[in-house]
Amino acid sequence: MQILDGQLTSRLIRDELKLKVAQLITEGKKTPHLAAVLIGNNGASETYVAAKVKACSEIGFKSSLIKLEDSISENKLIQLIADLNADIDVDGILVQLPLPKHISDEKIINAIDPSKDVDGFHPINIGRLVQGLPAFVPATPHGIMLLLEHYRIDTSGMHAVIVGRSNIVGRPMSILLSGNTNPGNCTVTLCHSRTRDLPSFCRQADILVAALGKPEFVTADMVKPGAIVIDVGITRLPDASKKSGFALRGDVHFQEVAPKCSFITPVPGGVGPMTIAALMKNTFAACSNKN
Ligand code: NDP
Repeated sequence: MQILDGQLTSRLIRDELKLKVAQLITEGKKTPHLAAVLIGNNGASETYVAAKVKACSEIGFKSSLIKLEDSISENKLIQLIADLNADIDVDGILVQLPLPKHISDEKIINAIDPSKDVDGFHPINIGRLVQGLPAFVPATPHGIMLLLEHYRIDTSGMHAVIVGRSNIVGRPMSILLSGNTNPGNCTVTLCHSRTRDLPSFCRQADILVAALGKPEFVTADMVKPGAIVIDVGITRLPDASKKSGFALRGDVHFQEVAPKCSFITPVPGGVGPMTIAALMKNTFAACSNKN
C-alpha cells in the first residue's frame, strides 16, 4: 500500500507556481489576484478560506479576503460580486460555501464572471468541462486528477466508483474520470443515497472515490483488494484530547481499508491540500489568460 501524499504533491505544485510568479514579476507582468468572500462565522469555512489566503501569500499571489455578516442580503452580495467582476485587478473570485439559508447558491454562482470563476462552479465552466473544452475545473476533483497524475497512475480502462453526486465533487469527478484523458478513460459508476446495495458497487471499484460526508463510512468489506481509494470526506468530530476540540475524519475507515489498497489518500493530508493546489493553478490560469 502506498500513501498518495497530498501535502507533498500540493507543495510541489505550489513551488512550481511560485517560480512562475517570480517569472511574471521579472517580465513586468501582472501577478495573480484572488478575491475570497467569506460569509458568517462557520469555523470550517474560516479555516478553509484562511488556508487559501495563506497559500496565495506563500506563492506570491495577491489576495483580498472579504468578510461579511451572515445577515447580508442576496442582492448586496450579488452587487459585491458585480464589483469584483468589474475590477480589472481581480483575476479569480471564490465565494466560500455553504451560504446562509436566505441566499441561493445558484444565483451567487451564476453572478460570478465565468472567466474569474476559479472554483469552476459556473454553468458555463461545467458545460465546457462536459464538452471536453478548456474550462475552470472544480478545485477538489481537479486536485484529485493532479494527484493521480503526479503518482503516474494509469487509470485507463479501470472501473471508477464515485460515492456522492454533488455539483462540486462527485459529479465533476465522474466527468473527469470518464474523459478521454490521462488520468481518465475510466468506466464510471456514480452512486448516491438512493443507490441500492452500495457495498456491491464499491467492491467492484478499481478506483473508489468516497465523497459523501459520512465519517468512516467505507469499511474494509466494501473495498476490492488492490483498489485505489480516494477519500474526499472531511468531518469534524468532537475530540477533547485535541487543542482545537475536534478531530478530522474522512469518509473511509483508514485503518481497516489501507492494508487492502494499492494506493490511498489520508485525511488530513490527502485531497484537502490538493484542492488548494488546484485552486491556485486555476487562479494562475485566470491571470495568464489576461496577461
Ligand atoms: P454533499 O452533501 O453536497 O453531497 C453528498 C453526496 O453524498 C450526495 O450526492 C448524497 O446523495 C451522497 N450520500 C449521502 N449519504 C449517502 C449514503 N449513505 N450512501 C450513498 N451516498 C450518500 O457533500 P459534498 O460533495 O459537498 O462533500 C462531500 C464530503 O467531502 C464532505 O465531507 C465535505 O466536507 C468533503 N469535501 C472535502 C473537500 C476537500 O477539499 N477535501 C472539498 C469539498 C468537500 P444524494 O445526492 O442522494 O443526497
